[in-house]
Amino acid sequence: MPSLESLKISEIFATLQGEGASAGAPALFVRLALCNLRCSWCDTRYTWDFDAYSYADEVRLVQVEDIAARIASAPEGRVVLTGGEPLLQQAALARLLALVPPTIQVEIETNGTLAPEAALLSRVDQWNVSPKLAHAGDPESRRIRREVLAILRDSGRAFLKFVVQGEADLTEIHALLRDLEWPRERVFLMPEAVTPDVHEARLRQVASLCHANGLRLSPRLHIQLWGGERAR
Ligand code: SF4
Repeated sequence: MPSLESLKISEIFATLQGEGASAGAPALFVRLALCNLRCSWCDTRYTWDFDAYSYADEVRLVQVEDIAARIASAPEGRVVLTGGEPLLQQAALARLLALVPPTIQVEIETNGTLAPEAALLSRVDQWNVSPKLAHAGDPESRRIRREVLAILRDSGRAFLKFVVQGEADLTEIHALLRDLEWPRERVFLMPEAVTPDVHEARLRQVASLCHANGLRLSPRLHIQLWGGERAR
């Protein structure tokens, strides 16, 4: 049984942050298993799709003390807690972060559907929030939770990062930004791509959309550099 003392982990690896406000920064990635969404283009299905992947092969239960020790000794000085959806395990995550030295920069990547508890809000330095648009496939009632996004906005430490397939996505993005009164300088558009070729083509298209709409551009450096290879 999972407990506050352990986390269901998919993989832990050192790399460069590939996306968003800290793109290019060396970081230790801790990828948690499980997700509450089922995005059609998800590139980390091995964290949750246990019809296609073996749970026994893909998920390890790891003590929070062991993960904290790994983070504390990592030369990167930055940890990115990602998934899957890490906030599905937020009680144990809070326990983990209580053990992480305050000098470590902590980022959490979330789909923005689960409200973070106070202990996480006070410790996390940067929230990378990626609300999913209609093309991801889940109904809006599952993928967009405005009350949760408002909590993250009010933390003053959150960036929105939208996965974009094309210009049609801007209607949905503008409506959400307007409803939330989200500061535009904290919004990234990022191409939906899992291969370098598609990434390159869509990055140019998304760059034009950013320019036309006063939003920030994020590449997916790990796709550009390593083609979506796992643990890179
Ligand atoms: S929220 Fe993220 S991890 Fe979950 S299905 Fe969507 S893309 Fe995959």
